[in-house]
Amino acid sequence: MTDERHLDEPAERAALHRDALPAFDPAEPPEEPLVAEHAWGAPTQMSSELPGVPDAFQRLWTPYRMVYIQNGQMPDEHACPFCRAPELADDQGLIVHRGETCFVLLNLYPYNTGHMMVCPYRHVGMYDQATTEEVAEMAVLTQTAMRVLSQVTRCQGFNIGMNQGRIAGAGIADHLHQHIVPRWSLDSNFFPIIAKTKALPILLEDMRQDIQAAWPV
Ligand SMILES: [Zn+2]
Repeated sequence: MTDERHLDEPAERAALHRDALPAFDPAEPPEEPLVAEHAWGAPTQMSSELPGVPDAFQRLWTPYRMVYIQNGQMPDEHACPFCRAPELADDQGLIVHRGETCFVLLNLYPYNTGHMMVCPYRHVGMYDQATTEEVAEMAVLTQTAMRVLSQVTRCQGFNIGMNQGRIAGAGIADHLHQHIVPRWSLDSNFFPIIAKTKALPILLEDMRQDIQAAWPV
């Protein structure tokens, strides 16, 4: 019984960081128009004030697709990016926070701007194979990620979850990762279009720096 007392200690320490931020409140609307540097993925509300000739078309700006178009390369299938990332510097590994049993990073292939993932350091594929410590810290880091993303992006909701096995849609099935995808009320039109496209590192790095700065330490 003595060992059980220590199983959730990494999670309890992580919870101290989580509790430094206010709880996510999906009912609270943005107080100001979302413009400029903090309009991550959100609809631009000031476009009516810019020069241009209106027509019947909606524009979808996806500069991060250019990398995909230009080289079309996919990562090495034999390397595990979730084992590799913690070995790199934060900016190279897209890491925003390093916990004790798990870490948090941005997705190189975001479903939405600010798409983050929580992974155990250990190379384990299935959720039921994660240790109690890993499960507990992954849960708390997910909660903290919600609060950080809420502050940085002023998102209004989240999709959170994990795909277990390739048949269930896991792109990297061998290393457990929990997705945290921020959502805005008007993002659904481009949500499927940017899925599985590659993001320009400079845009991801801007986002990573903002999230890392907002993560309580
Ligand atoms: Zn791995």
